[in-house]
Amino acid sequence: MRFLSTRDANRTAGLAAAVAQGLAPDGGLYVPEFLPRIDAAALASARDLPQLAERLIAPFAAGDVAADWLAAITADAFDFPVPVVEVDGAGGPLSVLELFHGPTAAFKDFGARFLAATLERVPRADPRRVTILVATSGDTGGAVAAAFHRRPWVDVVVLYPRGLVSPRQEKQLACWGGNVRTLSVAGTFDDCQRMVKDAFVDPELARALQLSSANSINVGRLLPQMVYYAKASLELARADGRAPNFIIPTGNLGNALACIWAREAGLPIGEIVLASNANLTVPDYLRDGAWSPRPSVATLASAMDVGNPSNMERLRWLFPDLATLRGKVSAHAVDDDAIRATIRRDHRELGQTWCPHTATAAHVYRRLDAARRRERWVVVATAHPAKFNDVVEPLIGEVVPVPSALAALLELPSVQVEVPPRLEVLRSILMGKE
Ligand SMILES: *Cc1c(COP(=O)(O)O)cnc(C)c1O
Repeated sequence: MRFLSTRDANRTAGLAAAVAQGLAPDGGLYVPEFLPRIDAAALASARDLPQLAERLIAPFAAGDVAADWLAAITADAFDFPVPVVEVDGAGGPLSVLELFHGPTAAFKDFGARFLAATLERVPRADPRRVTILVATSGDTGGAVAAAFHRRPWVDVVVLYPRGLVSPRQEKQLACWGGNVRTLSVAGTFDDCQRMVKDAFVDPELARALQLSSANSINVGRLLPQMVYYAKASLELARADGRAPNFIIPTGNLGNALACIWAREAGLPIGEIVLASNANLTVPDYLRDGAWSPRPSVATLASAMDVGNPSNMERLRWLFPDLATLRGKVSAHAVDDDAIRATIRRDHRELGQTWCPHTATAAHVYRRLDAARRRERWVVVATAHPAKFNDVVEPLIGEVVPVPSALAALLELPSVQVEVPPRLEVLRSILMGKE
């Protein structure tokens, strides 16, 4: 299996190289040259999640060095559960796919842990220590820091916008120490991202360090996200005799793209519905056919505040024809008022507590009519509500119990360095001059 750049089909790499590079050299995103036909029976008979992951990802690693390490990689990465929980009283068969049982209580743990496990094992061309730079709007930085913490071959530098992440997200970004440094940037997420991009093309840094990125355009974050769609769809299709539909909270489109890839690979997945917040780039595109990226707007579902979703390039590469794309996915916008109302109502009526991101998907479910609710639907829960207790608790009037992994992190002291949004400052920190 080769991975091609979305911008030039002649630029190819095997899985290990595509993961190590992140972005293709021409600035395109790596995509698999084709979606292999998955042997659903072999997946369904897997003894556990790591083995299911190994069987699902194996065709993508075929012929590459990564294939030799895949069993070890998936055993390392998929070490927490992915429950599919039935919800009663919704007016039809409804399940929640809980993606928040990893170390930092959001689905970003799947991609980050797979990436770390892969980079750790697959031989590198450059023997020097690796420095991972990651700009985060909240969840990615914590997941990446957790996944790479204490691995002896790597340093991690996390940049986040001060004051623009939830208090518990901030704790999770700053609690690590050791090989993880956390920079609190006086600026926006866009500033953080720009500093990281500038660092990658800075000649002095390129000479001195082996920089690598862990951001969501890395194909090593997408493949592991197919795994939970495989697990959930096989389980539910076996129980119901028909393919379940998924509603996915969407920002940069990484999570949804993994679901689309899983369905194209032959897994029993019905409709795929994207739930957006007030950032309307994707719903507007599907409606009008004009691709118009724009600055992001701040919402309660802040991890979905993306105005220029980079994975759209992969989606349009796969389905260049708009009519075809419209047949593959639909997208619905959910504003902050609807997020608040859904968190309140579903807590009261269904006994479910959603994070603000998951609430966008739950709201889209609420808009389905009675006929459509007779089908099996799955709301994809992307983060634990306790991570966003500052939003959720006042709405439901209760304290949200904190999962033990998250509680342990919240106990640790915070260490972060406050920096202005300037490359020179990042450069001196990276060069060890500050
Ligand atoms: C990152 C994130 C999203 C958006 O996922 P994409 O892959 O960017 O579409 C949704 N919810 C939570 C909690 C997230 O952290």
